[in-house]
Amino acid sequence: MQEPEGIPALITICFNQGELGMTERIRKRMDEADLVLLGLGEELDITKLVQEDPWYQAKIENIKNSWIIPYVKKLRIGQIAKDRCSVYMQLCSMLEHKNYFIVSICQDGAIKDAGFDESRIVEPCGGYEKLQCSEKCSGKLHEVSSKLQNQIKDFLDGKLTEADLEEPCCPDCGKPLVFNNINAAHYAEEGYLNQWMRYKKWLQGTVNKNVCLLEIGVGMKYPTVIRWPFEKITFYNQKAELFRVHSKLYQMAGEIKERGFGICREPEEFLKELSNGI
Ligand SMILES: [Zn+2]
Repeated sequence: MQEPEGIPALITICFNQGELGMTERIRKRMDEADLVLLGLGEELDITKLVQEDPWYQAKIENIKNSWIIPYVKKLRIGQIAKDRCSVYMQLCSMLEHKNYFIVSICQDGAIKDAGFDESRIVEPCGGYEKLQCSEKCSGKLHEVSSKLQNQIKDFLDGKLTEADLEEPCCPDCGKPLVFNNINAAHYAEEGYLNQWMRYKKWLQGTVNKNVCLLEIGVGMKYPTVIRWPFEKITFYNQKAELFRVHSKLYQMAGEIKERGFGICREPEEFLKELSNGI
């Protein structure tokens, strides 16, 4: 891919709040398309919101055993994700009868709680759902015990102390377990690879099909996962259209400017507008 060709056509489609033309167009396009490919990016990631959340910051400030912090984060993600879930649920009903696939680099797992077919979702960055061995002695994944999750709640309520909490360990080598996501020092990609294979296979079925690609909030953190491949699909498939929604990085590569639309919007606001229109 070449560098975007400067200003022309890139900046022209910068929609502000209240200008509904583009959202309606996308909705219509999603409806008409044979296949819909949805990419969700870091601007939508609730884990990012949690990081800046005053409640979370205050709670983790005095924690001495750092292994506890991701569990607090998990709990807070669950609390904050409720709003987002209702938006995703509406999006789910829009896509219910479509042949779709969702690639999400968010680590909040919120998309999985919205009723989508899980076999049509891949989350290459992992999240806070499963645990893995910190040393990755194997690619095995482990559940987070509900007992520990309840203990974390009690700890946050002041009913338990850090000393009452026990760090989960790998049943095979005894090393600590950590959450199965890209922040792990030895990330066990086994957590998403099956779904990735399924996604690759699904992509093979998009050749020469009428595909609507919708990329929401995807920046430059992991461009090889969504951003660049979506441009490539649009470039090679003449029947594909790509809609890129981002608060800043909405620019489109020059080669696909006829079928690629950069939309300057806050992703969450855009999603609400898109899904409210059904
Ligand atoms: Zn191990």
